[in-house]
Amino acid sequence: MIVVLLGAPGAGKGTQAKRIEAARGFRHVSTGDLLRGAVGEGTELGILAGKYMDAGSLVPDDVMLGLLNALLDRGSQGAGVILDGFPRTVPQAKALDHLLEDRGEKIYRVIFLDIKREDAVERLSSRVSCPKCGSIHNLATSLPRADGSCDACGGPLFRRPDDEPEKIERRFEQFQSETHATIEYYRSQGRLDTVDSGRSIDEVREAIDEILDRNSGPQAAG
Ligand code: AMP
Repeated sequence: MIVVLLGAPGAGKGTQAKRIEAARGFRHVSTGDLLRGAVGEGTELGILAGKYMDAGSLVPDDVMLGLLNALLDRGSQGAGVILDGFPRTVPQAKALDHLLEDRGEKIYRVIFLDIKREDAVERLSSRVSCPKCGSIHNLATSLPRADGSCDACGGPLFRRPDDEPEKIERRFEQFQSETHATIEYYRSQGRLDTVDSGRSIDEVREAIDEILDRNSGPQAAG
């Protein structure tokens, strides 16, 4: 079962994807985390992708599709896969449909986490994450331990370089110009559920659970 989470930067895709992973045994695939891992390891992909990420731009579609292909090829999917951060463009969305069709699979549900820009910017400016376990902390709402380390694993917390104010602006522009059209692509096909993501983490989680439990058959109308 494949579930896609879409939303602007700061909408809570990573936070909710981790919860779905823990609660339902889905494999959480975050293309952003994978790319950051590749940048950290200094691989060929990391060197290429890092230039775009540093600028707050999208990594080109052909690079992303190669990455996704390799991911879907890799081992068991468990109870399902939750895609966080992919697709972000209409060509990526179309390519994903074709890729899955070739494999006899399809997307179960696309969930759009909708948030007001000012709320998202506020979240991003107080967000820190743990590179060791991937936990996301918001300094405004959930203070980490006194020594500034991660509650979950004790790892060091850091602010993502693309969460700097001018990078945030650029990422929102990308969202408006590219990802918004992706959302419309799914909406026009009746495959989209929208969740108000400006609410608390638990309220958003409940809304997502309700969607996943409601859609007992693939491709239920939205
Ligand atoms: P995220 O962690 O999802 O916010 O992604 C961080 C950065 O990784 C983005 O700003 C892009 O530069 C890059 N990235 C992640 N996923 C994609 C994608 N599907 N297409 C293009 N670039 C991506």
